Amino acid sequence: MKTTGENSGSANLLPAVLIDFDDTAAEQNVAELLLKRFGDSTWPDVRLRFRAGEINLKEYQEITFRDILADQVTMQDYVKSHANLRPYFKELREYCLAHDIPMAIVSQGLDFYIRALLDGEGFPQIPVYSVNTRFTPRGITYEYRHTRPGQEARGNSKGLVVDRYRESGHYVFYVGDGISDFEAAGRTDVLFAHRTLAEECVRQGIPFQPFTDFSVVLQALEEYVGNGHRPGAPAAPGDGPAGSSGNRGESQP
Ligand SMILES: [Mg+2]
Repeated sequence: MKTTGENSGSANLLPAVLIDFDDTAAEQNVAELLLKRFGDSTWPDVRLRFRAGEINLKEYQEITFRDILADQVTMQDYVKSHANLRPYFKELREYCLAHDIPMAIVSQGLDFYIRALLDGEGFPQIPVYSVNTRFTPRGITYEYRHTRPGQEARGNSKGLVVDRYRESGHYVFYVGDGISDFEAAGRTDVLFAHRTLAEECVRQGIPFQPFTDFSVVLQALEEYVGNGHRPGAPAAPGDGPAGSSGNRGESQP
């Protein structure tokens, strides 16, 4: 098993599985699915500015969703009927539940569409670390609860979430696809990557395992547990997900 973090080889750490959402847990980029269907006509121009590096992901997302032409329920219904979770997500989740292994979504996307797909596919209990939104008569408001101090302008930090799990004694399996996952990629214990994240990891020499579905993650987890790394119950280290995208009944960092 290829590993990257300093917990590598440490005995008896409780595993935790952290999974990016768009193009990872979900087979689709659900944010783009919504923008293509409901976005203001200018959203592709905003995406060009984002891709050119003129604005960051946080700004791109806030601008494009602020002008969206649909209400929350309409978009959530659309997600439930047009998006799906990647194969073996359910099996991975069941294995984690059976072994008391924390499993959470870590996304720079928006809680309402992540929750819609998870709830729609029967996973309302999975904690979600994402952007917390509120739909108001004046449009969507955004709240960032997982930012690095001094770097609030960049939005939530996936690396920060990984750090919290590791600091609380977890051996972290991370799964992702994009540049926003790169910060987490270098800090996790075991990395699964595809698409842009995999290309970047190759460029920068960060070890990873490729994936097309969650069967390889499940296999690695079974191997880790089978090697005597017994699940336990380390204390939660601090702020967990909260609010509408929050922790619904599981003990998480
Ligand atoms: Mg992604």
